[in-house]
Amino acid sequence: MSESCLFCRIVRGEIPAKIVAESDECVAFRDINPQAPVHVLVVPRQHVGSLNDSPDPTLLGRMALLAADIAKREGIAESGYRTVVNTNADAGQTVFHIHLHLLGGRAMGWPPG
Ligand code: 5GP
Ligand code: ZN
Repeated sequence: MSESCLFCRIVRGEIPAKIVAESDECVAFRDINPQAPVHVLVVPRQHVGSLNDSPDPTLLGRMALLAADIAKREGIAESGYRTVVNTNADAGQTVFHIHLHLLGGRAMGWPPG
């Protein structure tokens, strides 16, 4: 846990967020600046800075499966969705608490920009 980390503060309830799912290990909430009709961030309760910090593989798997579960509930599982983990500057990571973006509800281009 990190005192000043934005996503740790959301996990602790100190900063409001539109929570869509919670589990023992993860919290999922809507992105404040959505890039698609569905844009949810799945974060671990535990502070992990990025994928470079060797997160527990089980934790990563739980994050991915929670995203898949949310996709079903949001009605985008069949139409399709994208899950993204940005790591460091070239990928555009801006919050250094690992998070999985769940994006869907529109067709997306490939490769990403
Ligand atoms: P990154 O660029 O690090 O992969 O993604 C960070 C995401 O966090 C961005 O999509 C940004 O819109 C979102 N974000 C930043 N600050 C807040 C906030 O205070 N609340 C919520 N819900 N999302 C945020
Ligand atoms: Zn954190």
